[in-house]
Amino acid sequence: MKRSGPLKRSTSLRSVSKKRQQVSGKRRAMVREQLEARPKCEAGEPIYMHYVNKFGKAFARERSRTDRCQGRATDIHEPLMRSRGGSIVDPENTIAVCRRCHSWIHANPEASVAMGLLRHSWD
Ligand SMILES: [Zn+2]
Repeated sequence: MKRSGPLKRSTSLRSVSKKRQQVSGKRRAMVREQLEARPKCEAGEPIYMHYVNKFGKAFARERSRTDRCQGRATDIHEPLMRSRGGSIVDPENTIAVCRRCHSWIHANPEASVAMGLLRHSWD
């Protein structure tokens, strides 16, 4: 076969598949609903207690001066992450968290698993 130049598409590629587009819409609605129903960060207290148990109350108090839970939930976290096969549209797989606690959870996966804030795919 004789060709002049590379194959050309007649239509442009979608930036997001139709399937993913549908899931994203459902996800947005679920996040809005959950944050409305659960306005408080649900990870601040367990994370604080993690530091109390590990390093004592004085350390935990000192630490929370610089890295305090922001109180108001702004993110919806999935204990069973999407990368581990978790649903991102199931409210049962959510924890309402503030941005700071959300970052902490992903920065401290081992402790978060022990605290039930993260789950392994095989659990
Ligand atoms: Zn928090």
